Amino acid sequence: MYTLALETSCDETSAAVILDGRNILSNVISTQVPIHRKFGGVVPEIASRQHIEYVMPIIDEALSQAAITLQEVDHIGVTYGPGLVGALLVGVAAAKAISFALDKPLIGVNHMEGHIFANFLSHPDLEPPFLSLVVSGGHTQLVCIEGYNSFKLLGQTRDDAAGEAFDKIARVMGYPYPGGPQIDKLAKEGNSNAIIFPKALHERNNFEFSFSGLKSAVLNYLHTQEQRGLGYVASDVAASFQKTVVDTLVEKTINAAAYCGMKKIAVAGGVAANSGLAEAMETACRAHGYTLYRPEPVLCTDNGAMIGCRAYYMAMEGRFADLTLNANPALAITSSQR
Ligand code: ATP
Ligand code: MG
Ligand code: FE
Repeated sequence: MYTLALETSCDETSAAVILDGRNILSNVISTQVPIHRKFGGVVPEIASRQHIEYVMPIIDEALSQAAITLQEVDHIGVTYGPGLVGALLVGVAAAKAISFALDKPLIGVNHMEGHIFANFLSHPDLEPPFLSLVVSGGHTQLVCIEGYNSFKLLGQTRDDAAGEAFDKIARVMGYPYPGGPQIDKLAKEGNSNAIIFPKALHERNNFEFSFSGLKSAVLNYLHTQEQRGLGYVASDVAASFQKTVVDTLVEKTINAAAYCGMKKIAVAGGVAANSGLAEAMETACRAHGYTLYRPEPVLCTDNGAMIGCRAYYMAMEGRFADLTLNANPALAITSSQR
């Protein structure tokens, strides 16, 4: 079965062809990062316009790399939320047009569920149930994956997402967007015990997160050091900040796994590519007898393949959308069981 999938929720235009849910035949990703970099972050209006320009050529490229025609596609999956409304609309409109013109079933995919399903592409043996920690640019969530179409949200961030904190701190330190990978690289050379930053909501069975206090503490530190003319050691700030985030993520994930009786943990989202998080999570999982799963780096950040995998498992249960499908910028993970 061939799934054609489209992803345009933020600043990557991507199309993929997936065979039988788990085999990537193509995964074409056009990133707009260099365009948004001069503004220090994603400019929604520019993102929408770029998606319009790229969406059709990228679909053609995905089909050509997979060596199939549009007629051979069995169904079309598309991200319809959460994300930037104007960006989402481009993918949704393109998918609906193809669905209508060629009479192909349409599947509306939740972007965050897509991030989680990236794990199925990188790990052919992975099956539910498992616990997922989703850490991306806009979300930080602990989700119980009870089955391919059954999810329970245990908790999420009350304010900033983990990736957002990485990006904001990197920006103030003068690194280009997106700053997460830069902090990751810097942290490797720094002393993670150099500066003590605060942790929030660390009671045992609290599965909510809060990173805005930590973000402010790091920004205050940077400003104060500069005001006093002392400067700061960038690698130490990066390492200390990253350790604080990672410790919180690992501690809550391990507690959540015990709470819901899961033996497998799958991390997902852009921040899942962070080497400090991978290392600490691996050590903690080994100590507790859990198995850790993580998508390969290219499948951690936004891509069409993860949307195709999610769409396939929705199609298997007949969860199709009709042509009234609309972008939903604030779509919640448990509300998309259409
Ligand atoms: P969402 O999925 O919540 O809508 P998004 O799609 O913008 O948000 P992703 O594409 O999943 O987010 O991930 C991008 C985020 O991942 C950015 O914040 C980026 O800085 C962060 N990131 C990527 N690589 C790393 C890394 N190695 N270390 C830390 N953060 C990283
Ligand atoms: Mg992106
Ligand atoms: Fe994303």
